[in-house]
Amino acid sequence: MNKIATVNQIIPFSCVDGPGSRFVIFFQGCNFNCKNCHNPHTIDLCDGCGDCVATCPESALTLVSVNSGNRVIWNKALCSQCDTCLSVCPKQSTPKTLRYNVQQLIELIRSHVHFINGITVSGGEASLQLPFIISLFKAVQASPDLAHLSCMLDSNGSLSLSGWQQVIPYIHGAMIDLKAWQQDTHRYITGRENHRIFNTLKMLVDHAKLYEVRLLHIPQVSDFDTEIDAVAHYLNQLPADVRVKLNAFQHHGVTGDGLKWPACTEVDMLQLANALKARGIKNLVLPAAYI
Ligand code: SF4
Ligand code: SF4
Repeated sequence: MNKIATVNQIIPFSCVDGPGSRFVIFFQGCNFNCKNCHNPHTIDLCDGCGDCVATCPESALTLVSVNSGNRVIWNKALCSQCDTCLSVCPKQSTPKTLRYNVQQLIELIRSHVHFINGITVSGGEASLQLPFIISLFKAVQASPDLAHLSCMLDSNGSLSLSGWQQVIPYIHGAMIDLKAWQQDTHRYITGRENHRIFNTLKMLVDHAKLYEVRLLHIPQVSDFDTEIDAVAHYLNQLPADVRVKLNAFQHHGVTGDGLKWPACTEVDMLQLANALKARGIKNLVLPAAYI
């Protein structure tokens, strides 16, 4: 219960992060460096350098000394969300995070319990704060008034198999991103290979905990269309109830090389979806919008 998590954002009601209405906790920090990332300031943990503090027009940031060095405290009530702090940060970080212990999150979840079907932990990469997530889900499942809530993990799939073994008993399902089929393409987009993601998908299937696999379509960059036969063959071997969600690359929030890539239009997406359908993929979920 004494564990502390660094949280970038909490959305009390979401209908796109797992089944039903969900309380979603976005943890700060990621071990991928995806060129397509829509929230690149969630990638690094703040190192307390203090560069952003004086630039805040609302005096919403304060640098304080702690045992391990300096820490920036964000006053959410003063913040106007101008994002000046994000633009001056030399890392891919933000001072706009909050720290929670398990009990504080349990109380927050409890205050929304009548309006949600479950809890999703996301990021960043939520599994980087695995001991906290396990403690949180254990606490949810041990609370008589919360135990009916489903606990889902939204992940880039990089967690080790031993990590999955620890968390699988406490989750009802997982949503896993697969950003490209070939190693070289995946490494180009994310900075990491995709071996672990396939291992993750197999392990979750073996434990009947794979809720959704998410394929990112970046026309001319990702390779699900050019590798369509191999991709469809793989997807056809997943259990029939696993959702195959197609995500359309867009420029919103993206920085660097990704801005040079074409956005994915509805026409692009329907071409990929139809090619998958023609090869027997049924449980497809397409984007609701292309913005
Ligand atoms: S987003 Fe908030 S904390 Fe950041 S500079 Fe603007 S007012 Fe300050
Ligand atoms: S958010 Fe960035 S600029 Fe601000 S203290 Fe942290 S690392 Fe430094």
